[in-house]
Amino acid sequence: MDIPASEKQRVVIIGGGFAGIELVRKLRDKFQVVLIDRNNFHTFQPLLYQVATAGIEPDSIIFPLRKIFKGYKDFYFRMAKAIRFDAESKVLTTDIGDVTFDYLVLATGTDTSFFGNEKLRELTLQMKSVREALDMRSYILQNFEQALTMPEGTEKEALFDYVICGAGPTGVELAGALAELKKHVLPNDYPEIDFKRMQIYLIDGGSRVLGAMNEKSSEKALDYLRQMGVDVLLNKRVKDYDGTTVTMADGTTLHTKSLIWAAGVKGVPIEGLSPDVITPSGRILTDRMNRVKNQQIVFALGDAAQIEGDPVFEKGHPQVAQVAIQQATQLGENLVRAQGRMQWKPFSYRDKGSMATVGRNKAVVETSWLKTQGFFAWLIWMFVHLMFLVGFRNRFVVLLNWTISYINYDRGMRLIIRPFRNKANGISQ
Ligand SMILES: Cc1cc2nc3c(=O)[nH]c(=O)nc-3n(C[C@H](O)[C@H](O)[C@H](O)COP(=O)(O)OP(=O)(O)OC[C@H]3O[C@@H](n4cnc5c(N)ncnc54)[C@H](O)[C@@H]3O)c2cc1C
Repeated sequence: MDIPASEKQRVVIIGGGFAGIELVRKLRDKFQVVLIDRNNFHTFQPLLYQVATAGIEPDSIIFPLRKIFKGYKDFYFRMAKAIRFDAESKVLTTDIGDVTFDYLVLATGTDTSFFGNEKLRELTLQMKSVREALDMRSYILQNFEQALTMPEGTEKEALFDYVICGAGPTGVELAGALAELKKHVLPNDYPEIDFKRMQIYLIDGGSRVLGAMNEKSSEKALDYLRQMGVDVLLNKRVKDYDGTTVTMADGTTLHTKSLIWAAGVKGVPIEGLSPDVITPSGRILTDRMNRVKNQQIVFALGDAAQIEGDPVFEKGHPQVAQVAIQQATQLGENLVRAQGRMQWKPFSYRDKGSMATVGRNKAVVETSWLKTQGFFAWLIWMFVHLMFLVGFRNRFVVLLNWTISYINYDRGMRLIIRPFRNKANGISQ
């Protein structure tokens, strides 16, 4: 890989997610920084569900990585897939060649976890990338186009039902957005279809939705979902799915061609790490400096990392954007401290709270100083998400979209640009 030599030490960062971009900012002018990502853009994952449900355009939640760091000196971005590293020779191998490093940072995030069930990967819909969100948008709209042409029967009925597995923030937000699509938007596009036939199920193995939030927030979110017509099934675990029938561990079944898998994530570490530093869910074990266990110059951040030794988070920190950002800030400061031979500071997470929206005027927000629900929470949710979006244009366009949708109950992005079918619908991808 052709990176000019520099007098500065070189930090190679894999991953332009929340952690990666924050670290580049922190190291600006102090190190030579090489950022590697398989995409040439940063994705704001918290709003993927709005792309999937035709609420906002994909371009509004992604941002070119080169543009974020325009004007940075001694910064190089390469669009490449990192494959393996060798800490001894300090070489990272990618699909476009090798690059040497003084420090290597693994900020590779996570992928959807199917808990070893390959059938689920093939037959379900996922929402971990902007491509998958766009596929889901096409898929939902195609289903209704197809329903118009099909004779009555169980095949047709299976097109109407949506089952979302996993009632964390992603599942809850998606269920709410689908319910709004069903109520306000789709009936205008497909007046021939009786949308009472469309059923949205949200299922979870736990005893409440938003299990990571407090009980009051969970109850309120459940209440909102039920008001919106979502069928929430708790204490149910999906055991199997064959493309039309979801079978639960207790033997009950649901009939659908659309199973959306939002039930878990796993890390996908690159080669070069010894197996004993990788947890069963693919996270990389680090110390509180984010240094990978048994390594000196290799670090892991964000969703990909699991810090050991923090008494408050013995099982690792939550896999959320704030953790990724704060870890990157801390590592950036520590690497600068290393230049001045100063002592490093261990990471300690400042939990700023959590929130989720269920739909129009309906959200739950929890911080250390404020717990609120309803319209005010919804305003806070919108404000926070807008602030964390990268790029002024993106913020402006999203705000404009939200305002227009709020006023006219419509959504503008009901486009099937790139048709998508998965194996559950009989047409291979
Ligand atoms: C649908 C959804 C909704 C979410 N909602 C929220 C929310 O509301 N609030 C919240 O706080 N968090 C939310 N999260 C979680 C949040 O997005 C993550 O915690 C955060 O993105 C983690 O940041 P990261 O930098 O560790 O990884 P990521 O942001 O996932 O970035 C990883 C980067 O690494 C790149 N990469 C991976 N492997 C390689 C490789 N081998 N070579 C090159 N590049 C590679 C990827 O392309 C990606 O750009 C949500 C996640 C999803 C999927």
